[in-house]
Amino acid sequence: MDVYDDIGMLKGVGPKTLENLNKCCIFNILDLLLYFPRNYSNISTLENSNLKKDKIILKCQVKSIERDIRTKTGKTISTVVFQNKDGIFKGKWFNQPYMKNNFRINCQYTIMGKIQRFKGTISILNPVVMKQGADDKIEKRILPIYPLKSGLTNNLFTKLISNVLSKIKISENLPHEIIDKYKLCSLDKALRTIHNPVNLKDLNEAKRRLKFQELFTYSLKILMLKSYYNKNKSGIAFKISGELIDLKEAIPYKLTESQNKVIREILVDEKRQNSMNRLVQGDVGSGKTIVAIIAIFNVVKNGYQAAFMAPTEILAKQQYEDSVKLLKNFNVRIEILCGSTGKKDKAIIKEKLKNGNIDIIIGTHALIEDDVEFKNLGIIVTDEQHRFGVMQRSKLENKSKNADILVMTATPIPRTLSLYLYGDLNVSTIDKLPPGRQKIETYYTDKMHRNKAYEFAISEINKGRQVYIVCPLVEKSEDSDLSSVEDIYNELKNTYFKNIKADILYGKMPPKSKEEIMNKFKNGETRVIISTTVIEVGINVPNASLMIIENAERFGLAQLHQLRGRVGRGKYKSYCILIADIKNDIIRKRMEIMKSSSDGFFIAEQDLKIRGTGEIFGFRQHGENGLVVSDLVDDIEIFKLANKEARKLIKSEVKEDIMIRNEIFNKIENSSKYICFN
Ligand code: ADP
Ligand code: MG
Repeated sequence: MDVYDDIGMLKGVGPKTLENLNKCCIFNILDLLLYFPRNYSNISTLENSNLKKDKIILKCQVKSIERDIRTKTGKTISTVVFQNKDGIFKGKWFNQPYMKNNFRINCQYTIMGKIQRFKGTISILNPVVMKQGADDKIEKRILPIYPLKSGLTNNLFTKLISNVLSKIKISENLPHEIIDKYKLCSLDKALRTIHNPVNLKDLNEAKRRLKFQELFTYSLKILMLKSYYNKNKSGIAFKISGELIDLKEAIPYKLTESQNKVIREILVDEKRQNSMNRLVQGDVGSGKTIVAIIAIFNVVKNGYQAAFMAPTEILAKQQYEDSVKLLKNFNVRIEILCGSTGKKDKAIIKEKLKNGNIDIIIGTHALIEDDVEFKNLGIIVTDEQHRFGVMQRSKLENKSKNADILVMTATPIPRTLSLYLYGDLNVSTIDKLPPGRQKIETYYTDKMHRNKAYEFAISEINKGRQVYIVCPLVEKSEDSDLSSVEDIYNELKNTYFKNIKADILYGKMPPKSKEEIMNKFKNGETRVIISTTVIEVGINVPNASLMIIENAERFGLAQLHQLRGRVGRGKYKSYCILIADIKNDIIRKRMEIMKSSSDGFFIAEQDLKIRGTGEIFGFRQHGENGLVVSDLVDDIEIFKLANKEARKLIKSEVKEDIMIRNEIFNKIENSSKYICFN
C-alpha cells in the first residue's frame, strides 16, 4: 500500500462512502492519514459512568427506534431509545435520518456523549457509537473524535485508519540531526499516536512532532519564495508628486493626525532608493484604505503601476469603487481582476497590464496567477487583515524585482512573529480612529436568552435599520451543535423574520450571487444578512446598526472585534450582541473583554493571554494558510525553532541537505498542505 493510493481501494469503502469521503477532501491514503481528530475523549475519566453524570460512556441495549419527526423549521429528528440497568435514555440526531440504521433492536452498543435533561427525559444529542457487540471491552484509552460530515461516522474513520496503519510504515522525512536535537518522535509514531493515543504524554509528543514538521516545511517554502526575490532587489526612488496636494483636497474628510504621520513615513520610504518594506497596522475603521490609495497614487504619478490585493472579492470590489470615485479627476486607469472576472475580460486586462495600459490593478488572489505580468510594477499593497497570507504575498512580490511593499493589517502581529513572517519590516501604526466614531454597545448573553437578541433586532429593523447575523458554520455539521447559516435562516424565517427580507451569504457562494446579495443589502432592499465570517472584512453599510453573533465563544476575540466593526459605520447608535455558550469562566472572561473594551490591540493582546489555558487538546481544522495542525500565533515557540532550522537548511551546501531540501520542496510545491511523506 502506498500513501498516494486511491482511497477507493480500501476495504469498506463503497461508491457511496467514497463520494462522502471525497466531500471531506479525502482522495488518497495520505489525505486520510492527515484527517486529524478535532478532539479526543478521555475514556478513562468516564469509567463507571451512569446516567446521573453529565458525560457518559455506557454499554446499553436498543429498546426501540422511533419514527422520525419533522420540526417546524424543517429539521428531521431521529430518535433511538436505549436502555441499561440505570434506566432509559434517548439518542437524538438532527437531519441525519440514516444514523438510526446503524442500530438493531435488542442489540448491545457502547454509546458516548453528553447528557441533556429536559422534563424528566434524558437524551444525548449526536451520541458517538463506539463499539458494537456485548463482549467488546473498551480499552482504557483516549478516543479520537473526528470531524464528521456527509453521513460519515466516527466508527468508519477509526476502522479505515487502523486498517491503513496496520499495513503501512511511514518513513522519516526530517533530517536526523533535527530529530535528535529536538527529541522529536518519528513521523510514523506521531501519526499512529494522533489517531490512536495511549496516553496524554504521547499525544502531546505526537502533536509537537507534527507541528514542528508543518512549521518547518512552511518556513522552507516562505524562505524559498523570498530568497529569489531578495537576491534581485534594488528598489526605485520615487519623487513626491505635486498632485498629492490636489488629491488631499479631493478627500471628503480631513485626514487624522495618525493617518498623516503614517503617510509621511510611507512617502519617505518611497523616496528612498531602497525598496519599501512596511506594515501598516491600524484598528478596524482607522482608515487604512485612504493611506494605501495615497501611497499608490504617488507611485502611479511617477509613471509606475500599482497592485492592490484584497482577501475577498467583496472587499476588492469595494476598494475598486472607492478608488475610482476618489481618483476620477486624476487621470488614472484603474481595473479590477478577480476569480469571477470573465475569461475574455481577464485576457484583456492581462494584456493591458503587460503593456502598461493599466495604472492600478485591484483584485484578489487572481492577481498572483502565473500569467499576470506587469510592465513596470512599482508598488504592491496587500490588505490581508489578520490572515497572514504570506505565500500569496510572496508570489505577488516575485512579480517585480524592486517594487515597494506595503502590507496592511487590522490585527497587531506579535513582534516576534512578524520577524519570521516579514523579515526586516518597518511598522507604522494608525493609533487613533477618525473623530466622531461611536462606541459600539456590546452585550453578551447565554443561548437561553437569545430570543431577546432577536426581539431587539426586530425593533432596530422597525426603526429602519439593518442587521447582520454571523454564524460559525454554513451548513449543519453532523458532529457539532454549532449554529449554521442555513439553520438560523430557516429558524428565523419561520419566527422573528417572517415578514422581513433576509438573505444568506457565505464564502463558497458563486461570486455573482454574493455580489447581488451585498448590493441588495447595501441599497436597503434586504434588512438582514445571515452569514459566516465573510462579512468580516471591510464591508461598509452605514445603515446597519446591529450585529448578532451566534456561538461567539467559537471565535477569536480579534475576529469578534473585526466583525463588530461592520456596524457603527454611520450616524446611528450601534450594537453588538454576542450569543455564547458560556460553559466556563474563560469564556465569560473573554465575553467580558469584548463588552468592556473597544481597543482592538488591547483585545488581541488579552485574547492571546487567555487562550491556550482553556483550549482542549484536539486540532482545530485550519486551512486558511494551509496549516492543519499548527497555529502561527499559538505555536510561536515551535515556529521559532522550526524556522531557525529551515534557515540553516536553505543555506546549507552539504550534499545531503540539498537533497532533502529539494525533495521536500518538490513535495510541497504543488500541495496545499505542509505535512508531506517520503
Ligand atoms: P480600515 O482601516 O478598517 O480599512 P477604512 O479605510 O475602510 O478602515 O475606513 C473606514 C471608514 O472611515 C471609511 O468609510 C472611510 O471613508 C472613513 N474614513 C477614513 N479616514 C477618515 C477620516 N480621517 N475622517 C473621517 N472618515 C474617515
Ligand atoms: Mg480595510
